[in-house]
Amino acid sequence: MLKKDDRLTLSISDMGVDGEGIGKAEGIPIFVKDAIIGDEVLVKILKMKKNYGYGRLEEILKPSPWRVEPRCAHYRRCGGCQLQVMDYKKQLEYKENKVRNNLMRIGGFDGADLEAVREPVKGMEEPFGYRNKAQFPVGRDKDGRIVTGFYASRSHRIIANRRCVLGAEENERILDLVISFMERYGIAPYNEADQTGLVRHILIRKGFSTGELMVCLVVNGFRLPHSEALVSELCKLKGMTSISLNINRKNTNVILGEKVVLLWGQPYITDTIGEIRYRISPLSFYQVNPVQTRHLYGKALEYAGLSGQETVWDLYCGIGTISLFLARKARKVYGVEIVPAAIADAKENARLNGIENAEFFVGKAEEVLPEFYERTAGVEEDRDGIVENAGGGSDKMRHPDVIVVDPPRKGCDERLLETMAKMQPERIVYVSCDSATLARDLKYLKGAGYELMRWQAVDMFPMTGPHVETVVLLSRVLPECH
Ligand code: SAH
Repeated sequence: MLKKDDRLTLSISDMGVDGEGIGKAEGIPIFVKDAIIGDEVLVKILKMKKNYGYGRLEEILKPSPWRVEPRCAHYRRCGGCQLQVMDYKKQLEYKENKVRNNLMRIGGFDGADLEAVREPVKGMEEPFGYRNKAQFPVGRDKDGRIVTGFYASRSHRIIANRRCVLGAEENERILDLVISFMERYGIAPYNEADQTGLVRHILIRKGFSTGELMVCLVVNGFRLPHSEALVSELCKLKGMTSISLNINRKNTNVILGEKVVLLWGQPYITDTIGEIRYRISPLSFYQVNPVQTRHLYGKALEYAGLSGQETVWDLYCGIGTISLFLARKARKVYGVEIVPAAIADAKENARLNGIENAEFFVGKAEEVLPEFYERTAGVEEDRDGIVENAGGGSDKMRHPDVIVVDPPRKGCDERLLETMAKMQPERIVYVSCDSATLARDLKYLKGAGYELMRWQAVDMFPMTGPHVETVVLLSRVLPECH
């Protein structure tokens, strides 16, 4: 039996949810931070549980053939980039394999069948500098100097680093200006221990397609003394569009408070993905990797196979990113989303783009859709196929051409899958951020008469961990004629 402080050698053969290496000893998986697949390592056991354990990497005995030099000097201390020392091609191969294995093991799909309809994993040409948003905590180092950077993994200790290789180049200059402003005017960073001090975080967002920049200081107060001095410097930066404060006076780990006070410029920046423009305020949800988002949602649109005549439901629609992509090519799109603020953004984005054929509903997809379907039972189709009835439904709405889903990690509720199958769309496009729940849901839909036509894994988060998005096309199999 292994116990704490034991030393042993391990061959790393897999990866955990945070990108840590996993090797087996006596049949039990041991999690080792900073080890990657292919490494042979000397490990000291930190903690043993019944079915798994944690080890500390003491020495790399034989480096993995996929080890590469990290770009960032802080990668080991910072919690953000567990995979930076792993060759990017290998990262992609790992991610695609993970999806494939889940589809086989959980979804019950055959390996050769999957291979026949696979599109190669979509990675980034330049897998750095892709994040359009960063939230830098502000604090003091042990000598009392003001620092900003990133939290060390599993802690709130700040690793001073103004030049994250995943973020926009402009971040460093902005952070320099804010920190020197704070030093000059004696403005204190927030101290979590006793909730004193003012500046908690610096939020920076950039519209990659427009070059517009937003800086928002999260403060434990209602104003920023001498803010005009900071504004006068920040506003000279190329692309600067919005400078604001976010008020957060709570003793909480949640970064942003509810209120935003504009200091200079507009309260939002604008960005485009494909042909669609989006307005982004400090509190808006927006995908952090716009390049890969463009690909993922473009693929969803391609799989939807629209000609202009279709009626489409977009479930879990968020701020309507996919809905608006679809609306350009469909007759009508209905979006459903649980967060009211996201629906407000979706409507605003539709208006901004002059899109009038998208309609949005607030609620749980697994409630809105079944309730709608049951309420409109008995609606007859007229010559146009678009009868409105007292329940507000139409036959095309009950039997749409396409249903798109983009659920959170827990996947779709079975009640929703059941209704989707009853609605009998020709095609279902499933966008997933968790291939295990994707596989479970596809198994259900396969049982309900849908066939897997295509799939592709898309890497939205290079370097950071094993997360991977997948987009899948399913088609309805018509009952055979006898
Ligand atoms: N396609 C969206 C993002 C989808 S992320 C976009 O581009 O904006 C998943 C979304 O599902 C989130 O917006 C989340 O708020 C929403 N959600 C979570 N549970 C839900 C439920 N039960 N019903 C509807 N929406 C839900």
